Amino acid sequence: MKNKTLGIIGGGQLGRMTALAAAKFGIECHVFDPDSNAPAFQVCSKSFINKYEDMAAIKEFASGVDAVLYEFENIPLKSAQYIEKFCLLRPSSFILSVSQDRLVEKNFLLNKAKVKTAKFYECSTYEDLENSYHSINGISVLKTRRFGYDGKGQIKLNNDADLVEAWKVIGSNELILEEFIPFKRELSIIVARNYNGKIVLYDVVENKHKNHILDQTIAPAPNISNDIINLAKTIAVKIATELNLVGLLAIELFELDDGELLVNEIAPRPHNSGHWTMDGCVTDQFEQAVRATLGIELGSTSRLFNITMQNLIGDDIFLVKKYMNDPKVRVHNYGKKEVRAGRKMGHINHIIS
Ligand code: AMP
Repeated sequence: MKNKTLGIIGGGQLGRMTALAAAKFGIECHVFDPDSNAPAFQVCSKSFINKYEDMAAIKEFASGVDAVLYEFENIPLKSAQYIEKFCLLRPSSFILSVSQDRLVEKNFLLNKAKVKTAKFYECSTYEDLENSYHSINGISVLKTRRFGYDGKGQIKLNNDADLVEAWKVIGSNELILEEFIPFKRELSIIVARNYNGKIVLYDVVENKHKNHILDQTIAPAPNISNDIINLAKTIAVKIATELNLVGLLAIELFELDDGELLVNEIAPRPHNSGHWTMDGCVTDQFEQAVRATLGIELGSTSRLFNITMQNLIGDDIFLVKKYMNDPKVRVHNYGKKEVRAGRKMGHINHIIS
């Protein structure tokens, strides 16, 4: 029997957990990452330790698999487009291009998917920044359009004096200014869509951050109204459909006091806020991504347990010993060799009920 082979761009924890999910189906994974210590290399059948710009290596990688998914967005668009010459890339390079640039993404969300976002303005010059700041007329967040993650590349602006400072720090980048949203809480929803347009959705979850890094996901989001659940699902379906998504995508949302939901950003890949599904759902997000990418029927997203997912950041990883024999806790250690402050080392899923 010839099983399919999946290519994974990026060998971090998301790539690793995708490869582990694929292995359950007898699917082999080839992983591409420039870092020879990338944790997914420990669990795949072929390693490509090459730069993402190495087109010869990209060609060899893409020629040897049935389809490719990526575990992070910051790969060169050219490399993603090149992969599509040799095999399927899911989600497509078009979707990747939308998610790589906050301005393109926000314009897409607002004008094509027709969902609500925070007010935003493109800032190419300091004059743009001043004008946008005065149009927002309140607290704002200045963000780089590209390569931002975990709060990096963004600065909150509380008054006119902050503009000059912020411009000094990130003014050499392409920027976007957003109004600051005094949200009630942060939610997210994960959607998967397959090649024939079938859509499945996971439960809406609440996300709590510490130092701009996701700390905890509570699944399902506590005390959430049916109206908010339905609105989140409608938003997810609109985005997935308008993008012509094939694959898996996460949507980060701000819940407001008045019952409105604003889309903060999208991530066309498995997402940290979906780790709870590994122990909480019939089909977890990684298996779902594998299914959607390789054209296997999508799995049930039914929730089996309420879960609180706790990220293990830096030294937290040493807590796993304490949890190993707790019957209500499932431990996930990413096998990273070096413990660093602020680094995602693993997570635990507490089974609540
Ligand atoms: P991002 O990189 O856009 O996902 O932003 C990281 C975090 O910064 C979010 O999870 C929010 O907690 C916060 N944040 C980003 N944009 C805004 C905004 N416009 N208003 C309030 N908080 C924000």
